[in-house]
Amino acid sequence: ETVMSMNNISKSYKMGESTVQALDHISLTVSRGDFLTIVGPSGSGKSTLMNIIGCLDQSDTGEYILEGDEINKLKDRYLATIRNKKIGFIFQNFNLLGKLSAIENVELPLIYRGVKANERKEMALSCLNQVGIGDRASHLPNQLSGGQQQRVAIARALAGNPPILLADEPTGALDSRTSQEIMEVLHNLNKKGHTIILITHDLNVAKQGKRTIRISDGKLYEGGDVNHEFVNI
Ligand code: ADP
Ligand code: ADP
Repeated sequence: ETVMSMNNISKSYKMGESTVQALDHISLTVSRGDFLTIVGPSGSGKSTLMNIIGCLDQSDTGEYILEGDEINKLKDRYLATIRNKKIGFIFQNFNLLGKLSAIENVELPLIYRGVKANERKEMALSCLNQVGIGDRASHLPNQLSGGQQQRVAIARALAGNPPILLADEPTGALDSRTSQEIMEVLHNLNKKGHTIILITHDLNVAKQGKRTIRISDGKLYEGGDVNHEFVNI
């Protein structure tokens, strides 16, 4: 079952006289249950692609269908609604609200969905437990280690049960051992059926996906050995 598909997506930025083609006619299909990693160096178009997949921005041309919704045809004002329903974001720097406890951070997407307080607590705690941090529910972010904060952020991404978890360099601020633990958390969620798209510049992280795509100069390449041959798609 297809969760999202992109067809011939392009995006460019005008810089005075010149134009930068950040995404160059890319096509991509993601099925439910995938663990897709997208890897590329700085300037290859990762952030641009992540912003489009995450409905933070729209492409100039091409088609992006996310669970039946044609994102590229949506008016700006509907983008946020779709985004909040369909995408669970996981960031490099966790982006937790510092004045809220772990469980309160996880409750945020549920408040947005209109879930009642007592039910919300229960759901948020269940998400924290799923990522192994239920015992830190009442801690503030600054009372948690980086790895613990990222678990809370993952629990928050899970809370609304979105069809896609979109992770942007989720291990970028963590040491290698903690990074590995976070990758295991993501793998466990994927085993339970969650669809994950992870964007990174780190080949060692990228290799751990079920499927790896390379991005270079705004084009996607797939297949072959991750280290060597890729075929333009
Ligand atoms: P990455 O995340 O892989 O570093 P980006 O998507 O940020 O790549 O950038 C792709 C290309 O688009 C780069 O050449 C970058 O300089 C350019 N770019 C990105 N954002 C902008 C912007 N807002 N204005 C102009 N150029 C941009
Ligand atoms: P790590 O060594 O795993 O990076 P720390 O040494 O920072 O993490 O934290 C170890 C434990 O102490 C963690 O479980 C964390 O929840 C707790 N902790 C860290 N800082 C504080 C704090 N300021 N207040 C309360 N608990 C804290």
